[in-house]
Amino acid sequence: MKLTVLGRWGAFPKAGEATSGYLLDTGNHKILIDCGSGVLANLFKHIRSEELDAVFISHFHYDHIADLGCLLYATRIAMGFKRRNDPLIIYACSQNHLFSKLTYLNHTKGLEINPNIELNLDGLKISFKQTVHDEYNLAMKFEYGNKVLVYTGDMGFEPNFFDFCTKADLLVCETSLFEDEEGLFKGHMTSRQAATLAQKANVKKLLLTHFPHQRNIFDLATESSKYFNGVIKLAEINKTYEV
Ligand SMILES: [Zn+2]
Ligand SMILES: [Zn+2]
Repeated sequence: MKLTVLGRWGAFPKAGEATSGYLLDTGNHKILIDCGSGVLANLFKHIRSEELDAVFISHFHYDHIADLGCLLYATRIAMGFKRRNDPLIIYACSQNHLFSKLTYLNHTKGLEINPNIELNLDGLKISFKQTVHDEYNLAMKFEYGNKVLVYTGDMGFEPNFFDFCTKADLLVCETSLFEDEEGLFKGHMTSRQAATLAQKANVKKLLLTHFPHQRNIFDLATESSKYFNGVIKLAEINKTYEV
């Protein structure tokens, strides 16, 4: 599996950048994970909308869904011009009233996901776990071949999350706070907490993302490296990471 970062900022994008969005490519699937502000402009540097097999939304905060409306239109146009035959499936929790907007004419279709559902999309296994956050957020585990990728979406630190990401090859982890900001926002993690999660879960690589705006993000990696022995990367826009 390969993961390309399409957006990496929390809350709002930096100039010319984007909030949460990732393209997962297994070789057989092209999956968009979250669709924040500015994500489509980056997605289209890599693929066309009709190449997408499915979309997964972690939660309905705007920094994870802001570009979804335009994706519905792109899909409508692709189907109108016969570049796409089947509706684009958008998987998300059904707890938010915006879930009903995911089904748009016969062009896109919203399907519910929750922690009791395990999907198997042509060999790609996907499971979910609710996290501590001020909107219902689902972390996601993607398993393909013998590789495992876990994406946290937004979450506060919780020890009972270790099991969900045990021995992941790549943990894509939100890091919204610096080490000395612990407790500032309950539903987000500091660099130390992200690294502690990676260490306790014994993951191979930690990709830090969902960055804060207030300070130098390179300090997040420096802080994390004190608590995690594995490989740590800061998400870079349009960069592809091998899982
Ligand atoms: Zn967010
Ligand atoms: Zn959020």
